[in-house]
Amino acid sequence: MSIPSGFKARFSETLRLTLVYRLARELNAELRPVDVLHRVLNAAAEALGTPYASIAAFRDKELQAAYAIGGGAVDPLPVIKRVLADGLAGFVLHNYRTVIINDINRSPLWLPLDDEPLSPQEGSALCMPLIHAGEVVGVITLAHPAPGYFSADAVNLTTTISELGAAALSNALLLDATRRAERRYEVLFDDATVPIIITDLQGHIQAINRRTCEFLGYTPEDLLHKNITTVHREGTEPVGADHFDHLKRGLEVRFQSMAWAKDGSKYPVQVYARRINSDGDVDCVQWIEHDMSIQMELDRLRRDLSAMIYHDVRGPLSNVYSSLEALSRLLARHPDQNVQDLIEVASRSEDQARRMIDSLLDVQYLEEGRRLLSRTNVMINELIVEVVKQLEHAARENNIFLDFDLADDPPVLYIDSGMIERVVFNLVDNAIKYAPRDGAVIISTVIGKSEVYVRVKDNGPGIPHEALELIFDKFSRVKQRNMPHGVGLGLAFCKLAVEAHGGRIWVRSDNRRGSTFTFALPIEAPGTQELPLLGPAAAH
Ligand code: ADP
Repeated sequence: MSIPSGFKARFSETLRLTLVYRLARELNAELRPVDVLHRVLNAAAEALGTPYASIAAFRDKELQAAYAIGGGAVDPLPVIKRVLADGLAGFVLHNYRTVIINDINRSPLWLPLDDEPLSPQEGSALCMPLIHAGEVVGVITLAHPAPGYFSADAVNLTTTISELGAAALSNALLLDATRRAERRYEVLFDDATVPIIITDLQGHIQAINRRTCEFLGYTPEDLLHKNITTVHREGTEPVGADHFDHLKRGLEVRFQSMAWAKDGSKYPVQVYARRINSDGDVDCVQWIEHDMSIQMELDRLRRDLSAMIYHDVRGPLSNVYSSLEALSRLLARHPDQNVQDLIEVASRSEDQARRMIDSLLDVQYLEEGRRLLSRTNVMINELIVEVVKQLEHAARENNIFLDFDLADDPPVLYIDSGMIERVVFNLVDNAIKYAPRDGAVIISTVIGKSEVYVRVKDNGPGIPHEALELIFDKFSRVKQRNMPHGVGLGLAFCKLAVEAHGGRIWVRSDNRRGSTFTFALPIEAPGTQELPLLGPAAAH
């Protein structure tokens, strides 16, 4: 091309306005980022008459799309990446400013690319950032074989085109990112291995994923626009009675429930409900439905198996008991005191093992929410004295002083005496175990307005504050050095047993000056009260 040197591009105001009007209309359509690049670059190259031009789009400094004119069918991406790394476009991108090069062969900013069809070998160039809301969203480069081609007019026109382009590009990039995120969410939602249901805040179902269809046998059409109560027929009370008010306050709610399948069968589920997109105009609730049937079945099998084992161990244990009784009678007059001592140790161990088995069976029985079967009228003070007698030997061995402070004439309680005996036994046994040598354990009863309190106080090491709640959980033990052995079942049993009577149990521990365990039993026995059956027990 032969171009006279010193030629400057000139543009009339009418041309500028016409161009801006046309481009603005074109960019108004909803476009992909690459379409915006095409229209902006074509408009700029056409208006300025530049045979070489390129443009690239960025989001968070990452190259998103690029387009170039001048190289025929050549893929522009490799050369654009090069000039972004080492050339003029890269300089403009990082410095946020327009650069005009009047003679590319004499500018250090111009990257010489021999035989590159997208780049002129001589002439001038104009490179401008596309800035929107303070962010560079693109870089446009225009080049002409004539040196000094780009006049102030050309810069003005390119600035107008770039401003229009930057706004359109920024919107297109945002839309693109949103669509990609949506597509990602859709794939995740549909491929999730747990059933997920999306509803609005009134509970109308808006989407269900594939796993929900497989789990409950519905098609999306069966459930769309129906209420979540089609699946949760027992209601969704834990999520809030008034339009899921718990979720509205931003809470995440987990609860156990049943999910109804299309064929009318129902499955136990752990539901995790959460409000999503609460700040956008799409406001909905996500219900994740964990199928618990296999776990519940395994739990039931485990429980049945352990109940069977505990139960069957009782047989051999009672043989040990009767054999020891017989032995002790037979050897009552044996001259060697060691024989008596050995029988005594064996009896106590048998007693301990039996109590443990009974507690395990009771824990299981009570955990299933079954009612107490063997209530009788019981004088609590007498029960306590009888139980403590069984522990006198252990107390004597550690030189522990056992004392009573029992209320006069406590009311007769209607309780399961075997169970409450084991509660008292566990508490006094622990107190003796944890009290120091020569320590003291005081067992007292107090009559309250509607309850009788039984208190066991020791002067042992006490219980760390953070463990006060935990020790009533199954198998929880406080980890400290030189502590007696145990499995952490005693207090869990005590809690279940006392609560099954409608009572309460708690502990106070005073800065390493010992512990006081108290349990309260209601005076008015809820004689006809039946505990609700929970879990698999309900099915029997
Ligand atoms: P176990 O005695 O078999 O460990 P328990 O359920 O009876 O199980 O007790 C749980 C834990 O509570 C014990 O491991 C111990 O850490 C703590 N604990 C119970 N009673 C006392 C007590 N009187 N003094 C100090 N710690 C106690």
